[in-house]
Amino acid sequence: MVIYKFGGTSVGSPERMREVEAIITRTGETKIVVLSAVSGVTNALVRIAEASEARELVLAEQELEALDHMYYPFLTTLFHKEATQQQGKQILDESNRTIRQTLTGEWEDEFRKIILAQGELVSTQWFHLLLKESGIDSVLLPALEFMRTNAEGEPDVAYTSDKLSQMLALYPGIPLFITQGYICRNHQGAIDNLKRGGSDYTATLMGAALKADEIQIWTDIDGVHNNDPRVVSETHPIRFMSYREAAELAYFGAKILHPSCVIPAEVALVPIRLKNTMQPEAPGTLISLRSSSQAITAVAAKDGITVIKIYSHRMFMAYGFLRRVFEVFEKYRTPLDMITTSEVAVSLTIDFTDHMHEIIRELKQFGEVEWEGEHTILCVVGDNLIKRPGIAQRVFAAIEKMPIRMISYGGSRHNISILIPENYKREALIQLNTLF
Ligand code: ADP
Ligand code: ASP
Ligand code: MG
Repeated sequence: MVIYKFGGTSVGSPERMREVEAIITRTGETKIVVLSAVSGVTNALVRIAEASEARELVLAEQELEALDHMYYPFLTTLFHKEATQQQGKQILDESNRTIRQTLTGEWEDEFRKIILAQGELVSTQWFHLLLKESGIDSVLLPALEFMRTNAEGEPDVAYTSDKLSQMLALYPGIPLFITQGYICRNHQGAIDNLKRGGSDYTATLMGAALKADEIQIWTDIDGVHNNDPRVVSETHPIRFMSYREAAELAYFGAKILHPSCVIPAEVALVPIRLKNTMQPEAPGTLISLRSSSQAITAVAAKDGITVIKIYSHRMFMAYGFLRRVFEVFEKYRTPLDMITTSEVAVSLTIDFTDHMHEIIRELKQFGEVEWEGEHTILCVVGDNLIKRPGIAQRVFAAIEKMPIRMISYGGSRHNISILIPENYKREALIQLNTLF
């Protein structure tokens, strides 16, 4: 069993969808194909949901019509037969009806997730129909029946594993399944999602749940690069990378992978192969136990970081102080990324700021609190990075002109994290590229 995941660009035009069909029919092993929404659709759905929630109904309707302007020529080019075009149109009409239902009456919070789910629901039904038109048998598995999050909002892997095995057992001998990335239900049964870019996570969760032989993530670039190709022009793909290296890069901003998607594969020891739909012959990246042989494998940057500093004279020689500080973040379910301490102060970073005011108010009971947004965590990743002499010196020499706010070194042997103001990010990534 191999899981194939194709991202938005890979299904972004009728031609691309046909390339996906060609890729998955080249080999005979049993496959589950996880698809994203057509490129740009989720962004459009976000705009529709925002307009609908704000009860700007004319704007919501305009956005929906703009989406149809993209979708209609797409479907008439995608399907060759009149009858299939008709079926494709029905799928779209049904989806539009669901969206329009949120534009009448009172707004309900669950509408937002229902609207956002439409992109994957349409792309997968169309792809299933395309295969049918081509005479290829496949089964469309509804992700909403096996993907679920628990009360903490975390994926319920045991549920997915049970449910998916039961569903697959209904189709003995069928070698090809299609399903939606990104969408799921929450513990109360309402439609939800795995956050932006979540189709990667769907694929790895399914791969782990089924103990697949491999998870293939097909996208618009030839694997994980050593630096952000959107910022730095001279980057190169990394052939092999360990789960740990990939997990750090994904978490610290390498957009090619959803921040959490490496973890299920790492736990289940299922390799992840990244491939380029536009260049299928390129080797891509294999994420497994084998690390890159480089001292520094890659760098990434995570934006939108807020740094909080707490000064407290009571911290001096006190035990239990950090626990009480951490409890505040736990109470507001706000994860911490970096931490540094001195005798009288502790600095922490967060990227989820929904409860900022409550957190600051509670932290003030410990002492003086300062905070500042718009920071970036630079993350330098490599297995054994910490063990190799001279690496830290080279990293800091590359960014010697940057105002460094925090450094985390030695927390794991795989990464050095450095906090800088966001406006230095571009230059820092360019300078760090001289290390390769
Ligand atoms: P998909 O829609 O297939 O999920 P994404 O846009 O989410 O694709 O991810 C692929 C993009 O990630 C690439 O086009 C590239 O611009 C960006 N990216 C950012 N960092 C990296 C990196 N280190 N290596 C490769 N791609 C990266
Ligand atoms: N369509 C969703 C998004 O754009 C999920 C994904 O593409 O992975 O975020
Ligand atoms: Mg993505």
